[in-house]
Amino acid sequence: MAVREKYSAALYMRLSKDDSGFGESASISSQRKILRRYALENGFCVHKEYVDDGISGLTFNRPGFKRMIQDIENKQINLVITKDLSRLGRNYIMTGRYTEFYFPSKKVRCIAVNDNYDSDDLYSDMVPFRNVINEMYARDTSRKIRSALLARMQEGAFMGAHAPYGYERDAGDKHHLVVDEVTGTIVKGIFQKAAAGVLPIQIARELNECKIPTPSEYRCMSNPSLRIENFSKRREWTSATIIKILRNPVYLGHMAQRKTSKLSFKCPAAISLPASDWIIVENTHAPLVTNLTFELAARRSRQRTCIQGNGFNNLFSGIARCGDCGRRMSAVSSRKKGAEANLACGAYKQKGTRGCSNHFIAYDDLYEVVLCRIQSLMRRCGFSEPEKLTQDLLFHLVDHIEICQGHFGKTPSGRVKFQTIKIFFRFRPPE
Ligand SMILES: [Zn+2]
Repeated sequence: MAVREKYSAALYMRLSKDDSGFGESASISSQRKILRRYALENGFCVHKEYVDDGISGLTFNRPGFKRMIQDIENKQINLVITKDLSRLGRNYIMTGRYTEFYFPSKKVRCIAVNDNYDSDDLYSDMVPFRNVINEMYARDTSRKIRSALLARMQEGAFMGAHAPYGYERDAGDKHHLVVDEVTGTIVKGIFQKAAAGVLPIQIARELNECKIPTPSEYRCMSNPSLRIENFSKRREWTSATIIKILRNPVYLGHMAQRKTSKLSFKCPAAISLPASDWIIVENTHAPLVTNLTFELAARRSRQRTCIQGNGFNNLFSGIARCGDCGRRMSAVSSRKKGAEANLACGAYKQKGTRGCSNHFIAYDDLYEVVLCRIQSLMRRCGFSEPEKLTQDLLFHLVDHIEICQGHFGKTPSGRVKFQTIKIFFRFRPPE
């Protein structure tokens, strides 16, 4: 007995979802019972209990475990008792590092009651093997959890930790999304603006000016247990935030999940998957936008046009196309005095004559032509004051414009003559 009294024991307990299925036998209280009885029967003096509840054995970043290591460093413990070795960890390399190197180097004895393991026992060669089995078990569990998760995703159940911005979890069914009245309205506004040609960066600026909380700020506001530092560094709306929203099919009422994938079951780092690999289930919840608005917003926001210093904003972005090659016309600077810009064939701009020919048109000229055409149409349809047509409305009317303009042929005045301009109309009602 005298020999044993020199021990100051740590009782280490851990429980996580890898252990579900073991029921009560794995619970913390049953682990505690086993360990206390063992210490008592063997006359070990218990220094402290260390508990990690709900933490996987694949990580060693566990508060209870770390406290125990600290107490080992402070020489308060020289014996660690656990129910089995898998309580220490399910990662074979890391667990081995503790049982094979760390504990011996600190002269800490280690006992796993149910595994009949005792580091003082000369015949403990089974340990590395047991650690491998424990890891295989964790790998298998991780696979099972994963395939169950994928199956639920394929059914369209929402399996994320936090509802996407604009939605909240249904109080009656946490795998179902319902519209969050506050943020739902903001999402609708973002789509409307983007569909009307407002660039993501401008939308972000407006939201910042109005002091609208960002998605992560809002999430943390409505859930006080979350800490904003864990979600965002920049506490402001950015064009990236807006574009992410505009690309998310969740706002069409479709569930899009598995957008990232873990590198391995041992490593929490995740990589983004291409949209083609997402699991998308349609019509799982109420949409916030129509297909038309979504499509239009996507098309307009895809443009990489930047607003120039003079505030020029290409209203035809995503609408005007080259009549020859069908590529988008993009804004280029104009040498003409007082002119804002030219629109030029995107293919020519990128690849020169290998792409297309040098089709271009003065922005103001195009604007004038489109406006006149719409006004005359409106007049014909009986509108009394088509001049009051707003820019906003104009872009609900024009679907696309095909421009094919002569780089061959100028009028005597030197002005480039339009060969063809086709304007296609389709009324897109604002939501
Ligand atoms: Zn072209």
